Amino acid sequence: MFKKGSKLYSILTGSCPKCHQESMYGNKNPYHLSEVLHINEKCSHCDTKYRIEPSFFYGAMYVSYGVGIAFAVAAFVISHFVFKASVHGVFISIVVTLVIFAPIIMRLSRNIWINIFMHYDKDLSEK
Ligand SMILES: [Zn+2]
Repeated sequence: MFKKGSKLYSILTGSCPKCHQESMYGNKNPYHLSEVLHINEKCSHCDTKYRIEPSFFYGAMYVSYGVGIAFAVAAFVISHFVFKASVHGVFISIVVTLVIFAPIIMRLSRNIWINIFMHYDKDLSEK
């Protein structure tokens, strides 16, 4: 499921959506906050241009909403059902979760967004 060639691999690793051979990001670590949204111009392996059109990644905002909700629900379930936190405790845990995971949420949304429009190409990856 997580092998090269699946969308999940590209989404979770941030690798090129077409060849899965290298990272789309200049810096792989999302917690390097100054470079969190820095995406290379194109893939050096298969020459795929990541920004299909100007402002392409604005669309990732819509995905980001869904991904943020998923993280918030996970924080709710863990703090409410596992730690039996009060309403205030649950609220604080959701806010803290969203702040701490913001760089990961941003990158995941961009990875999901670009993978909606680009698909794995076996020939490109073996080039
Ligand atoms: Zn590539």
